[in-house]
Amino acid sequence: MKPPVLYIVVPCYNEEEVLPTTSGMFLKKIQDLAAEGKIAENSRILFVNDGSRDRTWDIITSLSQKDPHFQGIAQSRNRGHQNAVLAGLMECMDRCDITISIDCDGQDDINAMDKMVDAYLDGCEIVYGVRAARDTDTFFKRFTAQSFYKLLNAMGAEVVYNHADYRLMSSRALHEFAKFKEVNLYLRGMVPMVGFKSTCVAYDRHERIAGKSHYPLSKMLGLAFDGITSLSVKPIRLITLFGLLVSLISFIGIIWVLITALTGHSVAGWASNVCIVCFMGGIQSMFLGVIGEYIGKIYLETKARPRYIISERTEEMEETHDASGD
Ligand code: UDP
Ligand code: MG
Repeated sequence: MKPPVLYIVVPCYNEEEVLPTTSGMFLKKIQDLAAEGKIAENSRILFVNDGSRDRTWDIITSLSQKDPHFQGIAQSRNRGHQNAVLAGLMECMDRCDITISIDCDGQDDINAMDKMVDAYLDGCEIVYGVRAARDTDTFFKRFTAQSFYKLLNAMGAEVVYNHADYRLMSSRALHEFAKFKEVNLYLRGMVPMVGFKSTCVAYDRHERIAGKSHYPLSKMLGLAFDGITSLSVKPIRLITLFGLLVSLISFIGIIWVLITALTGHSVAGWASNVCIVCFMGGIQSMFLGVIGEYIGKIYLETKARPRYIISERTEEMEETHDASGD
């Protein structure tokens, strides 16, 4: 069997500080794997520039001129990490046998790629990179991340515990994945739906080599909420259940009120009335918000806007793109 062609897909947003270092690490990994005969010589590192405002794209183009292992595509503007990864995966699925998506900041241990490729050679179509330890993250980041997975699973979104977007996907799995047309992307929740034989590979998470995280708490919370509402309707069901419960309690309350009134024990209950009105007002607005979130998602889905727009490609990517005729 011929060794598979691997494309490492690397989303980059304002990463001029880390790219010069991590690009060398990726290249070495490709060369080592090729030397061992595990992957083909013409494997590539595909950087996806996500509308960076710094010199990221210049660095990518000059890397590709120095060594053909480096290739790049650029999104027409910043669209976020998930869209950048998807753009990269879709762009290379016809050019390769396997892809590995990884962040460009050196946090994900590239040595786990060996085990990922081994798992593929053993017949797995998807291999999830799973963080073994979170020692290098701050307590706060660790705590929010753990709560995030627990919340997601409790809400019915199946996600692999401690897996972010470091994963191997075969071209076969990607072709099936391409049929998922949703624009609300939450890759780590969508990929398990593709099925096929899969496994997990544990790796240690390092510190960011340079620069700073693009995922502050507000974005993390946004991602958690997006994850839940794009993958599951459980919150709506919980609301319905809660509504039923409140109705039941109200019904019992009404009987109680009637009995008190009929037996002549009723007192002007201003306080309790106001409490109930406020409580119900709050609950209803909150629930409307959740339902609104789903309607917003439906709104975006019906528009079916493109999930990514590629504005530039490095030379080889451009040539092979023209040749593929799409
Ligand atoms: N990223 C991106 N677009 C964005 C934000 C981030 O492509 O709008 C990339 C970024 O360059 C990095 C990866 O996504 O390769 C993960 O981002 P980051 O390291 O900031 O997140 P963290 O690891 O802190 O969760
Ligand atoms: Mg990072």
